[in-house]
Amino acid sequence: MLLEGSAVAQKIIADFQPQLRELNELGVVPTLKVLIVGGDLSALSYVRMIERRFDKNGFKAEIVHLNEKMTETELIDYIQMVNQDDQTHGILVQMPLPKHMKEENIFAALLPVKDVDGCNPINAGKLVLGEDTYNPCTPYGIIKMIDHYQIPTEGKLAVVIGRSNIVGKPISLLMLNKNATVVICHSRTKNLKELTLQGDIIIAAVGKPQFLKADMVKPEAVVIDVGIHDIEGKIVGDVDFDDLQSKVAHITPVPGGVGSTTIATLMENTLKAALAQSKKSV
Ligand code: NAD
Repeated sequence: MLLEGSAVAQKIIADFQPQLRELNELGVVPTLKVLIVGGDLSALSYVRMIERRFDKNGFKAEIVHLNEKMTETELIDYIQMVNQDDQTHGILVQMPLPKHMKEENIFAALLPVKDVDGCNPINAGKLVLGEDTYNPCTPYGIIKMIDHYQIPTEGKLAVVIGRSNIVGKPISLLMLNKNATVVICHSRTKNLKELTLQGDIIIAAVGKPQFLKADMVKPEAVVIDVGIHDIEGKIVGDVDFDDLQSKVAHITPVPGGVGSTTIATLMENTLKAALAQSKKSV
């Protein structure tokens, strides 16, 4: 069975309508600033999609292009200015940053209540402790997908391939919070295939096109593909979809799977941030 992201995104959007109305009654439009440092064109098409979807759903996303040559201190100063701007409720710093900047310094500058992708150490720490926080949008979308399709997680073996701060680590923690037994694999893992063959749920966030093959998964597994790659104009994931499709119980397509849920969770988090900030000021 295909796990389609658009159905999940629609459900996320339908579910937050009461909170959106509550905010509208206060005269507030939930507003996100997306900061792009430099001219990464692939990032640009993604943020244009954020802009369109936000606008269509009664939100606002403002894209700010910043100079690639700006210093780390200048970017931190800019973030601190947006932190103080009460018309902006959420801030998303688009990755990758120029090489002369340290991601962790930039994430630390975000005001936790505006950190809608859960990158700031305070929000990331709350995730570790299982407390309410802004869950990073892509992993949060995966959880919404698992819930939407009622995929059992309790006591299941979830094998996560990838340990990045933005996908692998947070999805591992979120699966742990859902009582899965989690194995985190990464570039130094020695016996990857032995591990993936045991997985009831496999989450591929490895950043390598069509990496996961049918001989690496057990029949009836659930496979979630986080990867996005443009291979000569064809969009593929980290999973060899054609190879796996007939073997597994559930699989996310690429495109149309995890990627489709990410903007909906970004909206949900921006709304949550706007409500937290607006209620404080009334
Ligand atoms: P990343 O490059 O930061 O991390 C990749 C991880 O894979 C690393 O932790 C590394 O240790 C691991 N890895 C690399 N080679 C391996 C191997 N041979 N065996 C086991 N593990 C290995 O990537 P990321 O930012 O976590 O993103 C992962 C993928 O998800 C990418 O394809 C990216 O484009 C995509 N992505 C999609 C969305 C979305 O909304 N759908 C969002 C973010 C990232």
